[in-house]
Amino acid sequence: MKKVGIVSLGCMKNRVDSENILGLFDRSGYEITNDPKDSDIIVINTCGFIESSKKESIENILEMIQYGKKVVVTGCLAQRYLEDLKKEIPEVDLYIPIKDYSHFNEKLSIIDKDVDPTLGVDDEYRIVSTGPYSAYLKIGEGCDNRCSYCAIPIIRGHFVSRDYDSVIKEAKELAEAGIKEIIVLEQDTTKYGIDFKDKKVDIVDLLHGLLAIKEFKYIRLLYLYPDEISDELIELIGKEPRLTPYFDVPIQHSETHILKDMYRRGDKEFLIKLFSKIRNKVPNAVLRTTVMVGFPGETEEDVDNLIEFMKEVKFDHLGAFTYSQEEGTPAAYFPNQIDEEVKKKRLAKVMKAQQKISYALNKKHVDEVMSGMVIGQDEHGNYLLRSYWNAPDDVDGKIFFTSHKPLQSGDIVKVKINSVFVYDMMGELYED
Ligand code: SF4
Repeated sequence: MKKVGIVSLGCMKNRVDSENILGLFDRSGYEITNDPKDSDIIVINTCGFIESSKKESIENILEMIQYGKKVVVTGCLAQRYLEDLKKEIPEVDLYIPIKDYSHFNEKLSIIDKDVDPTLGVDDEYRIVSTGPYSAYLKIGEGCDNRCSYCAIPIIRGHFVSRDYDSVIKEAKELAEAGIKEIIVLEQDTTKYGIDFKDKKVDIVDLLHGLLAIKEFKYIRLLYLYPDEISDELIELIGKEPRLTPYFDVPIQHSETHILKDMYRRGDKEFLIKLFSKIRNKVPNAVLRTTVMVGFPGETEEDVDNLIEFMKEVKFDHLGAFTYSQEEGTPAAYFPNQIDEEVKKKRLAKVMKAQQKISYALNKKHVDEVMSGMVIGQDEHGNYLLRSYWNAPDDVDGKIFFTSHKPLQSGDIVKVKINSVFVYDMMGELYED
């Protein structure tokens, strides 16, 4: 049997694409392998968002070519730089950009005559790669927010919501397959349904549809755009125990003049009001965000103000990165570009400040009994817990705990938090 292996890079939305690509190979008679040496075809599903992710994608392509197998490059880098890549890395057997996913096999048939050339990547065929109990649910594609620094609209195009029935159908299939935790995502999840002509459906309606699937213990949202978070959404999350009180709201910055130059809606005052409203309406709310330092025109004072803002709002989880000058985006041509060394210093300053905030917030969880799902064990035999407090990807801290009895991944348990660290927490199995 022919075998395929995949390297999935970038964000979790791209991860879902990788799972759909594997679904197509499965339908095309391929077996999936984790060993490149054992593969007939190696797919590298690339990321092309910012400089560092582009570099990582190219390094992975060059590494996989060494195995001497057929190499297929897909994803955002292939979509954004197709002609350059063909020239720069001709050793790759096939480049399939995102725009060709609907007729993927027509391309693939160039290197494998046996595949059915009429098949394409399809949302409804997927090999879930995130374990037997947790899965992402992608509810759309693209983005229309057009933040001045962001290449995603160039790569992924306009915002398109996925058909409601198709999302619910897939969710039901995932539930039947034993999935207990669903993570709903899109570039801008709060915009769901805005582009539907024939029916009025929004993210709150979609959540009601998912809540009707009783097998799901945990439903979590990622990528909420600040000024699209409705009171209705906050209230629903506040009252529905199966909706994790987890608000992932990338803000990018706090300073109004920077937000304006980023073409982002909502100013500093709006953000402060939003987060205090969430904290008031959802007392155990977990706040996560992403910030960027080094945007053109940013001053040291702006960074100090951002840190003061972080101290005021107190994000449980915060990811930070430096501005990347991306050609084709408006900000790439702005004056007052910042030196890379200065960017790195500002990043370190922000992360140092967040460490203090994160540790102080973690201390409030000591003696708390958290319910959640066992998601594995570390090399010391400690179990790992996924609770309302931590999302599946690596931005958030980990919860380690001991247990006097053996546990399985997917088990729903209670853990009493005994000690905390800057990012992580430690506890023990708690039985009523
Ligand atoms: S909302 Fe996110 S994906 Fe959309 S343009 Fe802005 S940064 Fe990019």
